[in-house]
Amino acid sequence: MIYSDFQGLKLSRLGFGCMRFASDPETGEIDQKKVNEMFDLAVSRGVNYFDTAYPYLGGKSEGAMAEALKKYPRDSYYIADKFPGHSLPGPVDNKALFQISLDRCNTDYFDFYLLHNITEWSVKIYESEEYHIIPDILDLKKEGKIRHLGFSFHGGPQLLEDFLNKYEGVFEFVQIQCNYLDWTLQDAEKKYDIITKHGLGVWVMEPCRGGKLAVLPEDKSAMLKKFDVNASDASYAFRFLQGLPNIKVILSGMNEVSQAEDNLNTFETEKPLSEEEKSVLFEIAESMKAGVPCTACRYCCDGCPIGLDIPYLLSCYNDYKYSASVTSSMRLDGLDEDKKPAACIQCGQCSHACPQSIDVPSALAELAEMYAKGPKWAAAAKGRQESILKDLGMK
Ligand code: SF4
Ligand code: SF4
Repeated sequence: MIYSDFQGLKLSRLGFGCMRFASDPETGEIDQKKVNEMFDLAVSRGVNYFDTAYPYLGGKSEGAMAEALKKYPRDSYYIADKFPGHSLPGPVDNKALFQISLDRCNTDYFDFYLLHNITEWSVKIYESEEYHIIPDILDLKKEGKIRHLGFSFHGGPQLLEDFLNKYEGVFEFVQIQCNYLDWTLQDAEKKYDIITKHGLGVWVMEPCRGGKLAVLPEDKSAMLKKFDVNASDASYAFRFLQGLPNIKVILSGMNEVSQAEDNLNTFETEKPLSEEEKSVLFEIAESMKAGVPCTACRYCCDGCPIGLDIPYLLSCYNDYKYSASVTSSMRLDGLDEDKKPAACIQCGQCSHACPQSIDVPSALAELAEMYAKGPKWAAAAKGRQESILKDLGMK
């Protein structure tokens, strides 16, 4: 196993993500026997980092993780859990909610704890005086119940920079969606650079983009097979990340033994990508995108009479074109109405200024339509809010 050094801790660079445990096809319950088997395999091959969150698998991930780890000494592994600020029904007793997570995980401290899912929308909740989240979490850290504090992030680079400037010295690591496709599609390169510049560690989620980079379309997979006929598509996605020195932990939601074996083999030794392999990966990434080639030069921004953040909106557009999800909607939910894509008056100023000749008005009109019709974060969050109320005995 390859390890990284984080403040003197030896962390396995492959972390076990606990949001995709196998479930029993008949009952729908988590298949604990299989989870135990997967954890035993991972531990025997050197994995020591396990990442869960309050809402994963309807609140059942934390307990299943604890069950699978109970036979190992508590100081032989690291647990990461997350505070569900983005799913709260309103201001609640944050410390009571934290205690529920501790109890479910059968522990009295978390090695790593994250504010879950900071975006342009959820940051307003996390920073709200009424919700009082950050001061409460800092109290818990002072009490020794949190060893290292970070946050997971799905917003844009500007928010990341602003947030880290505002909370300099508070957070120690940031978890971002990073893979060779999102390196440009979701500005992961910029986010990696911002986090690194602030002296914090980078943690990675979605290294294979929800499995899409683990099983590539046949023609794209063939482009990689010419380097090594036996190497899996996923191994290239992981090796790309291994080559970024400030990435401390790469989380993979493993739920099949064959998948875990393959990942564990990839993390056995460092095998940096050659320049040729890297350029083929970027070629594959470009061919998978379906949006517009905005370089975020911002030449178009000064002339926009509405003051829209055009490159940000086009990055959301590209995300929607690749795959519309609740995360895509969250990036737009956080904007004021007069800054959302529907506020564009189609004047066309931006297109004249654009060196890439992008038809911005058409893209924004299409984005407004996709946003209006697509999956909505608010709808997805409703169920989570209800369970939090139930867990806290408020319903
Ligand atoms: S077309 Fe829309 S985005 Fe472009 S300058 Fe006009 S209002 Fe702004
Ligand atoms: S001018 Fe074109 S490439 Fe530059 S930020 Fe605007 S849309 Fe993007």
